[in-house]
Amino acid sequence: MSAQDQREHDRAGALAARFAEVFGHAPDGVWRAPGRVNLIGEHTDYNDGLVLPFAIDRSALVAVRLRRGGGPEGDVVDLASTWAPAGEELSRVRFRAGGLAPGAVPGWGAYPAGVVHVLAGSGGVEVPGFELLLDSTVPVGAGLSSSHAVEVATVVALDELLGLGLDRPAMARLTQRAENEFVGAPTGIMDQSASLLGRAGAALFLDCSDLAAESVPLPLAEQGLAVVVVDTKVAHSHADGGYAARRAACERGAAALGAGSLREVPDDADLGVLDPETARRVRHVRTENRRVLAAVARLRAGDVRSVGELLTASHASLRDDYEVSCPELDLAVDTALAAGALGARMTGGGFGGSAIALVPAERAGAVAAAVERAFAAAGLRRPAAFTVVPGDGAGRVR
Ligand code: ADP
Ligand code: MG
Repeated sequence: MSAQDQREHDRAGALAARFAEVFGHAPDGVWRAPGRVNLIGEHTDYNDGLVLPFAIDRSALVAVRLRRGGGPEGDVVDLASTWAPAGEELSRVRFRAGGLAPGAVPGWGAYPAGVVHVLAGSGGVEVPGFELLLDSTVPVGAGLSSSHAVEVATVVALDELLGLGLDRPAMARLTQRAENEFVGAPTGIMDQSASLLGRAGAALFLDCSDLAAESVPLPLAEQGLAVVVVDTKVAHSHADGGYAARRAACERGAAALGAGSLREVPDDADLGVLDPETARRVRHVRTENRRVLAAVARLRAGDVRSVGELLTASHASLRDDYEVSCPELDLAVDTALAAGALGARMTGGGFGGSAIALVPAERAGAVAAAVERAFAAAGLRRPAAFTVVPGDGAGRVR
């Protein structure tokens, strides 16, 4: 058993014991779903483009028990999370599985409720009530997709307990709909796919136009490398509006170029027909797709180090053409590069969240320390820096 498997096994045991204290009986089982880091391929997923994320060694665990036997309480869903307001042990949410409508469940309960809603709606599945205890090591709001980890853990648990037999792409689409239609976040398909299809020691090369997925070796430790995540701890308030505006610009650009999506625009298309801002947005998406292809080719050739320069080029494109970076992300990237990183970029939607740096393993501590010092010198809140390892996708732990 790998060190990560052992840790999760231990966490699952502790969670099952906690479940018994909270709900008065043992859970039916414990399932896990990891967060993800996107190595490269940013803001391409909703453009039918290419992405290269990997599942990380941080995950949401859920202990779940179905309510059996019906009765008036038979469809009550009882949720608890160890992610709770200061001074409280657990954050609790209760709702009924029957007749759920978007907006009916506030706060974090909307993520599991969205899964129930989509299963019951289009899936036609009669979802009984259940009890669920959640414990996650994916940092919340850092752009590592803690929200999808909650949704994916919920769907893999319900799939098995209800004997639904859903395949992984179906689960990815289902959790995307839960997030789009129930939670109300217009996110793409990448995050769930990484959480569902990730493999230890590999990145996931995903074509978002048809969900064709392939594992690509990412032998970090074997090549003396590490990926450092810097969670800037900032979330700029224009993030949602900025994301919607970028999506709109891409749709506008594709339409003006006579294509259904930016993926269909031929390589030699003349961007001169677009206004300068739309042209920059389109240029980012097109060059980013090419960088993903280059990264995949380099990884297949066994060369992880040279992916670094592609990360740095991706950051420049996101900063200058797509304009979704921010001073904190730029500072993290520039400082990491100056401290010896082979490449670095913002990861996730931008306007805050996290940056990643590909570093020689022995430089990981120095890079993290340099970024912390730079943030302190700039009068910014202390960031969190930690290394991540490509881990396995979602599944049952016990
Ligand atoms: P992220 O980039 O981490 O996905 P989001 O804003 O999309 O950021 O999702 C964060 C939300 O996901 C939280 O506000 C909460 O509603 C939910 N969430 C994530 N982790 C947990 C957890 N451990 N317990 C309860 N809710 C969680
Ligand atoms: Mg999220």
